[in-house]
Parts: sequence; structure tokens; C-alpha cells
Amino acid sequence: MTDPRSRMKVLNGIPASPGIAIGRAFLINRALPRSVHSTVSKDRAEDEVAAFLHAVARSREQIQAIREGVKDQSSDHYQILSVHLALLEDSMLVDQTVRLIRENQFKADWAFNKVLQGLLETFRRIEDKYLRERGHDLRQIGHRVLENLAGRLMESVASIRDPVVVIAHDLSPADTAQILNSPVLGFATDVGSKTSHTAITARALGIPAVVGLERVTGEFAENEETILDGEEGVVIIRPTPEKVREYTEKKKAYALRIRDLAKFAKLPAVTRDGKTLRLLANIEFPEEADVSLRSGADGVGLYRTEFLYLNRKDLPSEEEHYLTYRRVAEKFGRHPVTIRTIDLGGDKFASHLELAEEMNPAMGLRAIRFCLRERDIFKQQVRAILRASSHGKVQLMFPMISGVGELRAALAVVEEARSELKKRRISFDRQMRVGIMVEIPSAAICADQLAREVDFFSIGTNDLIQYALAIDRVNEHVSYLYEPLHPAILRLIRRVVDAGHDAGIPVAMCGEMAGEPFYVYVLLGLGIDEWSMSPTSIPRVKRILRKSVAYEARDFVGELLAHATAADIGSALRKKLEDLFPEERF
Ligand code: PEP
Ligand code: MG
Repeated sequence: MTDPRSRMKVLNGIPASPGIAIGRAFLINRALPRSVHSTVSKDRAEDEVAAFLHAVARSREQIQAIREGVKDQSSDHYQILSVHLALLEDSMLVDQTVRLIRENQFKADWAFNKVLQGLLETFRRIEDKYLRERGHDLRQIGHRVLENLAGRLMESVASIRDPVVVIAHDLSPADTAQILNSPVLGFATDVGSKTSHTAITARALGIPAVVGLERVTGEFAENEETILDGEEGVVIIRPTPEKVREYTEKKKAYALRIRDLAKFAKLPAVTRDGKTLRLLANIEFPEEADVSLRSGADGVGLYRTEFLYLNRKDLPSEEEHYLTYRRVAEKFGRHPVTIRTIDLGGDKFASHLELAEEMNPAMGLRAIRFCLRERDIFKQQVRAILRASSHGKVQLMFPMISGVGELRAALAVVEEARSELKKRRISFDRQMRVGIMVEIPSAAICADQLAREVDFFSIGTNDLIQYALAIDRVNEHVSYLYEPLHPAILRLIRRVVDAGHDAGIPVAMCGEMAGEPFYVYVLLGLGIDEWSMSPTSIPRVKRILRKSVAYEARDFVGELLAHATAADIGSALRKKLEDLFPEERF
């Protein structure tokens, strides 16, 4: 018999969302099997054909089984599954692959991928929007056939019924959105970083997560016992009974710490020298309004509206946008709700919109660039935000503004939306404040010019750091270079704060840096007025602010900026924090 102790394995990754989960593993492996150019000997070609046809038949059976479970035959879901089945019957897809295998002795996956890519290209060039969007279905079908060829199981978050720890290569925003109503205890992924959207959503939902583990999916078998520590960034596979006991205790201690912190939720965020700050929530779903208020949020500093576009096959209507925003605005009453216009593209994609596949999605047609191209989609959202503004204190915010030219183009759309509503005699708040995210270095550098044309700034450090330091924020291999304390970042932040204050507008921060206890003192010293973060981080940040003296922090930041490296700044900061707040854990 194997000693269970010897089978325990500890993996270290990036801590993405605090808390401890203990449970059985549920594997989702979404890495598309990578096809490389490979051939087989002539006598093996028929085996490849047989394997391919088997994978197609298996895919068809799976889709038929899913379709049988859909009761309403007129529903979109049923129709889409029917389209998938029809695509699988398509002789181009199947016959061409078989021909390529026979003629060139290609391996089945390589041949299929070649045919698939060719067809996808054709779909991309189709003028008709409806037909072009079928490319998305084709890609999903292709994925399924390749998975079946590789003999893997397609699983999704939606099928989870029991409390489990999800182990995945990656989770799409569509997957994480489904976690909201599922019994998932926590998750661990091969890829990702602290600021990838999977991590952000985990924090928003308050479930523990570890990302960037590189090979976690390869280490697990289904149903294996797992411990996940989202604070330390550790995943333990097949833990010994002692480890389970140790972590059960840790879990209890964590729950106590959270309960203790909850006392700070209701206290004001005032420093010892009387500087009042505003702590706000970053939210993705209207359902987060209650937890934000309970955590002591003074409003919403960033409402990421992309999530309205996920897990659906059509676009949200103006009415749907409006009713959703209105619900949030009414919940927050006199507190501000900052609604960010869609930031699709990059690592946030919509289920429905067929965005072009780009070499550099983070620098591609995303966010405001996409909106200025797809003006109807954009204006519809702006009208809905304006309409919601008559039900609370709504503010509108544009993402990814690179300079004054782009800002003016976006403001012109707001003007158009205003006049349309006036013409239709629909009420809205005529004083609604409009601001921008400062998250592209060019915007930070030209902050003085931008400040004259908007009502507020909100610094998005997730992207600002990505672009200023040239580090892909979702790439675990370069996450060690993602340094919020890099002197260039601190200088950029200071520049934006000074420009905002010179123009008399408040400067907020809504990137993940704002909710990290380790950076609180530095941001206070840099003069940030409003801090927006995952609601669960609010009590802890408040506790630190309430023990701080603002003018001392300002002087200290002056000293920090004299250092030339992030490492030196980090050690000086750690030393200071340990002196000032010996009871806090950083
Ligand atoms: C940011 O970039 O810091 C930000 C808050 O926006 P997002 O994470 O949604 O890109
Ligand atoms: Mg951003």
C-alpha cells in the first residue's frame, strides 16, 4: 500500500484571492490542444482518418445529448446547438480534413486545424454580420473536436453541482461569471496573474484562488483531495490528514480575522491627522451591491460593465443596460456609482461579439477604441447610463483614453446621446459627472491637458503598469516584473495626482494596487483621494488608513522616490510599515 504521506505534493503559485478552501478537485482543462505540423507513415494514414471520424462522431453525440437537455426548442441555446450540429455535418470541414490526411499523411489534428483555420478566415471576411458571427460557433466546434481527438473531457463551471475546488488551465470571464451562483469553494489555474480578470473576479466573489501555477492541471486526477491557500499562493494535492487538520485550523483563524476586520467597515476612512478619504467598491455584477455596502463602501468607484455581455448569444438592449444600472444606482442612493463604458477586448471578451483575433489584443481594438468604431453599441450604453443617472448619483467613466483627441471623440458621443434623450423627453441628470481612467502612459504624461476636460480621474494601475513596464498582465512568466513600486510607476501616479489637483478635480485609483494593504501608505502619501477596490478589501485598507498620518506619509514618499529600484523602495517601505504597524501582516 502506498503511504498517503509520500503522495502529498505542494505547488506554489501567485496568491490571487485570500481564504482557504479544502475539498475535492474538479478539473477543467481548457488549453486548446496545440497542433503542430506532423505527419505519419503512409500505412498509418487510415488510422488517423478513423481517429478523426471518431472524434467528430463523439462531438456530435455530446452536442445531441446537451441539446436533448434543453427543453425550449425555440430558445437561443437550442438554436445554437443546432447550428453546431449542422457545422459538424458540413462536408467541407469533415471531407477536406479526411482528404488532407490521405493526400499528405498529416496527423489528424494538424489536418483538421488547417481546414478549420481556413474556414475561420473565410468567416472573418464575410460582410453579413450574422454569418460572420457563426465563426464563433465554428471555433467552439473546432475546440470540441480537437479535445475529443486528444481524448480530453470538456467540462464547464455550469455543470458543477457540489462544493469543489476548480482546477483549470484558465477560466474565461464567462466561466468566472458562472461561479457567482455555483457552489465552487475556490480555484487554481495554470496561467494568470494577480491582475488578470480571473483573479479580480475571485476577489470580487470572495472565494480563495491561486493562479499562475503553470502545471497544476497536469498534477491532478479528478476528485482528489485538495487544499488551496489563497493568501500564501499554495495548492496542496493529496494532503496528509495532519495537513488537513492544520489547514482546518488556519481556515477557522482566517474566518475570525475577517470577523474582526468587519468592525472597521462602518467606521469612516479618516487618518489620524483628520484627512477624510473615500473608499469605494469595484463591482462587476449588480448582485455585489449588498456586499459592497456591508463592507463599508462609500459608493462604486468602478462598475465593470463588460460582464453584461458575457454568457449570452445576443447583445444587451438599451433597456437591459438601463434597468441594470438603475438597480445599482438605487441601491447606493446618495453614494456615487461610477459606471465604466465597456472595456471589451484584451483579456475581456464578449461571448457574442466576434472580435477579430489580434496579435496583441492588449494593444488592439479594445475598450474606447472598440466603442468609437462600434458607435451604435457605445451610444446605446451611454444613453442607458444617462437614463440611470436620474435614479441616483451616477458618474460615467471611459476606459483606455490615450489623449485629448480620443477623449473629445468620446465626449461627442455623450453629447449626441444627451440630445437624443432630450428630444425623446427622457429625463437624466444634466450634471452627471464624466471622468476617465488613466491607464495608458500617454494619458498620464498628458494628464494636465486631460484634466481640463473631465470631472475626475481614476488611475487604472493594472493596465498602467502593464503598458508602462511592457509586461503582459496575464502572463505568469513575466509577473515577477509587475512592480507597482517601480520608480516610473510612482512618478506617473504622482504626476496624475498633481495634474488633477492643479485642475481642481479629484483623483481616484481603481486598479488592484488600491486594495493591497502593502501599498496603502504609499498611495496616501502620493495624495490619492478616492480608493476603489474589491469590496472585501475595504475594511483592511480602512484599518491601515485610520492608523496613518497623512502628512507623514507624504514626507515618507518623498524619501522613497529617491531610491532607484523597486526592490529598494520595497524594502524601505516594508521596514517603515513594520515600525508603524507592528500588529499588521503585510
Ligand atoms: C485597470 O486597468 O487598472 C483597471 C481597473 O481596469 P481593468 O482591470 O478592468 O482593465
Ligand atoms: Mg484597465
